[in-house]
Amino acid sequence: MTRVSLLLMLACLSAGRTQGKQPVQGPVRKTCDSGIVLKLSSATTSQGSLLLAEISGAKPSQEFSAEWDGRPIPVWRETPASPTLHALLGVDLEKPAGRYEWKITWSTADGKPLACSLPVTVRAGKFPTERLTVEKQFVQPDPEQQKRAEEDQKKMKAIYDTITPDVLWKGKFVVPLKGVSTGGNFGRRRVLNGEARSPHAGVDFPAAAGTPVYAAQSGKIVLAENLYYSGNTVVIDHGFGIYTLYAHLSEIGVHAGDPVEVSAEIGKVGATGRVTGPHLHWGLTIDHARVNALQIVQRRP
Ligand SMILES: [Zn+2]
Repeated sequence: MTRVSLLLMLACLSAGRTQGKQPVQGPVRKTCDSGIVLKLSSATTSQGSLLLAEISGAKPSQEFSAEWDGRPIPVWRETPASPTLHALLGVDLEKPAGRYEWKITWSTADGKPLACSLPVTVRAGKFPTERLTVEKQFVQPDPEQQKRAEEDQKKMKAIYDTITPDVLWKGKFVVPLKGVSTGGNFGRRRVLNGEARSPHAGVDFPAAAGTPVYAAQSGKIVLAENLYYSGNTVVIDHGFGIYTLYAHLSEIGVHAGDPVEVSAEIGKVGATGRVTGPHLHWGLTIDHARVNALQIVQRRP
């Protein structure tokens, strides 16, 4: 399998998706100065989605900087000599609906600075609201629990702030449970014990405690420990700001720093942390944007 297959797959899924009843525009392209062409898998998307971006017509050693909504994002080449560069644009599940821009800048051989951009329209996602009752300590943590949760948050931020400049993935992403193709709850707005909380940033797969959990993609384990809300948690760095997270595990079978191969067992389903029962919570983060993890494996029907 090649890295290209991942990108082609993303192109398919983004081009073929629909959000509710609204038609979604297909791929867009724009020819810029000096033969550079920008492509996006769609010019219209919705909260919690993923877009594939491509820069083609580049010279082998030519360097590009990319920005998504004013923030720098990484771009990469499949091979060092490739004339095509790639990026993923993550649309965070709470990104306000509106018009945004994917912008690239580069210099010509004689040093002239150039820029080119494509607009992206983000629509509001259609997420249901769920009302749950959980143990009181998870809605009103005491000061010590609150402190622990804040430390966890800092740790996660430091992980997501790190952009490993290597393609650590190989081929396609897979769903982290065997024989499962779909999960739920992504983006749900949540009311816990009557209090509004942050939306649900992952996909939940109901499964029996002890069911093996597999790495969705190759990469490096960057966190393997118990966190206050997500319980026993594993985070894998796949390179270029792409991270997957596996939460509420009963057992963790890996250590931070370990390399991991796609489909290798990393732990078992459990009910640790803030849960109402055993399940796997699976998250995908792209440059800090919390997106629907199923989008990276889902294919156009
Ligand atoms: Zn969950």
